[in-house]
Amino acid sequence: MRRPILAANWKMHKTTGEAEAFAASFVPLVADAVDVDIVLAPPFTALDRLGRALAGSNVMLAAQNANPEEKGAYTGEVAPGMLADVGCRYAIVGHSERRTLYGEGDALVARKAAALFAAGLVPIVCVGESLEQHEAGRTFEVVSAQLAGSLAELPRDRAAEVVVAYEPIWAIGTGKTATPETAQQVHAFAREQLRGRFGAAGDAIRIQYGGSVKPDNVDELMAQADIDGALVGGASLDPEAFSRIIHFEKR
Ligand code: PEP
Repeated sequence: MRRPILAANWKMHKTTGEAEAFAASFVPLVADAVDVDIVLAPPFTALDRLGRALAGSNVMLAAQNANPEEKGAYTGEVAPGMLADVGCRYAIVGHSERRTLYGEGDALVARKAAALFAAGLVPIVCVGESLEQHEAGRTFEVVSAQLAGSLAELPRDRAAEVVVAYEPIWAIGTGKTATPETAQQVHAFAREQLRGRFGAAGDAIRIQYGGSVKPDNVDELMAQADIDGALVGGASLDPEAFSRIIHFEKR
């Protein structure tokens, strides 16, 4: 059985004070959720203070990005070791906003994922097709190419630990969600690809769905056989809404 993983991507939202206030409300709400992994990814500026606020709780810290280098002349960048230093256990890489707004491609995402493992973190590797690709019936082709490219440098012996997030771009922040059946089809396809690449580890890899996950649609999404969690943007900014998502109904 794969342990569900529910992760919040706060994007460029919340100051340090707002992140601490979130933790003060959220941690008690989810203290009973011991059979799932709960992850918060605030902006870099809030990592240290949020990490301190989460200490001793069942909520883990993540970054929203990482540079693949260990250190050096990379103005504005943050290295995986620095993220480990402030208590991060995970980092999101290859989010569609990074791919489309900052031109990041699969080769860079693959280097980031490998560098995160080397620094003791676990990458959450995002893939997903655009609306245009979706409408052209290219979803499987795009997801297959992104998985192959973005996981190309993964150490084989750590493959089971990686987290993949399938996030159709047309569903991110739009209020449109893939139907649970459509999402399941893509997840099942992704799992086949992962099995093909990593063998039995493909069955252990957790695949999150992302794209307008909310308290009122999480239950049916999480009921699908190959949906092992959610990567949540908008609805994760509110402690009660994200707590409801954490407490998805098991079917
Ligand atoms: C995301 O940013 O990864 C995301 C899925 O956002 P939202 O939940 O707001 O669609």
